Amino acid sequence: MVIHQFANIRRQLQLSNTFWDDSTTHGLVDIVAADMRDGIVNDRAGRTIVNFSSYSYLGLDSDPRIIAGAHRGLDETATINSSISRMRIRLSLLEEAEQRLSLTFGAQAVTVSSCAAAAWATLPLLASGEFTDGHPPLVVFDKNAHFCLNAMKPLVADETELVTIDHNDIEALEQLCRKHSHVAYIADGVYSTGGGAPLDELHRLQDQYGLFLYFDEAHGISTLGRRGRGYVLGGYDGWRDRTLIIASLNKGFGASGGVIFFGPPGDDSRKPTLLRTSGPLMWSQRINTAGLGAIVASCDLHDDGTVDRLQIDLRERVRLFNSLVDTDLAGDGLPIRFVDIGREDTTVAVAKDMLDAGFYTSPVFFPIIRRGSAGLRLMLRADLEPNTIRRFADTLTASLAAHRDREELPA
Ligand SMILES: *Cc1c(COP(=O)(O)O)cnc(C)c1O
Repeated sequence: MVIHQFANIRRQLQLSNTFWDDSTTHGLVDIVAADMRDGIVNDRAGRTIVNFSSYSYLGLDSDPRIIAGAHRGLDETATINSSISRMRIRLSLLEEAEQRLSLTFGAQAVTVSSCAAAAWATLPLLASGEFTDGHPPLVVFDKNAHFCLNAMKPLVADETELVTIDHNDIEALEQLCRKHSHVAYIADGVYSTGGGAPLDELHRLQDQYGLFLYFDEAHGISTLGRRGRGYVLGGYDGWRDRTLIIASLNKGFGASGGVIFFGPPGDDSRKPTLLRTSGPLMWSQRINTAGLGAIVASCDLHDDGTVDRLQIDLRERVRLFNSLVDTDLAGDGLPIRFVDIGREDTTVAVAKDMLDAGFYTSPVFFPIIRRGSAGLRLMLRADLEPNTIRRFADTLTASLAAHRDREELPA
């Protein structure tokens, strides 16, 4: 039996331990907050830290209307979880949440406990040929596809043939489409390290060769697209066949759980299959009633134009940030910025400078990204004060300059 075809956990641990230990020593992890309203962390040590690393791009995580929705979910059902498989008996609140998601996003939706669980539920099924007329497709992963997708590779490879291609490598993908009758491409809509999938090109391959497109929209939904429909669905005029989209409801959407968009609105034909084969996800794990109530409330904010307005606020913050700090991909319109530093020790030192000044940033490093290309991942929020962004930029520029003077960084 061949081992380590897709991962080598022990080696990964050895490589990343030093960096985690270093981050721990400098107080960059294990921060405990009494509360984190509006992206402000009030920690146990009495510090007030502005979170420049929050996935809640629109600030919906502490929106009082969503919190009220969570209360409603609990109050109306008088339970936190329905402890029976949803296949057998389910709460009407679960139905309501899924119907609302289907209407808001213009695509038939089923919920699961997280985006990672959505990957777990769908990728092996896709590999089995269930979505491609019974023919197991050649499954092609983008090299930068999210961890939760990559983690499914052993299960996918047990069903069908699998290859990994370079990031956004349309030419390689087209060659595979020419050679194989059934191909499925696995990608993030928006990548957590920046940039997006080349949608126009991918749709061309879909139209030309019948390519099946599978997108992880964890970062895209709510944050981008008309009515918050996301990077992929936001550009659709109706549903596109041979598409499946998974997303997190824990990030920009401001609620809880994950969702699978699997067909045109109103068409539930695939739902039983999606649920029946996904084993543990259908036992007792699902979005709890507070989360379901929050989903309905967040759908209201998507439908009534609130999310469109917050997107405008966010874009203004991103533009301001881009005018102050130079980063790769600065024109991509996304709220995720990566400050490339290179050395891991310097990355930790800069993050420590930022934290001392009251700003939390995430140092990222192998295995999240390539070895030797460490840096700070920053996420902007619609509710950041412009002056806070200016202070942040000044502090970052000064810290980078200080480390450059110490010759830890190239000029
Ligand atoms: C955060 C993230 C996930 C995981 O989402 P969960 O809901 O936490 O499981 C999946 N994909 C991408 C691209 C992400 O950034």
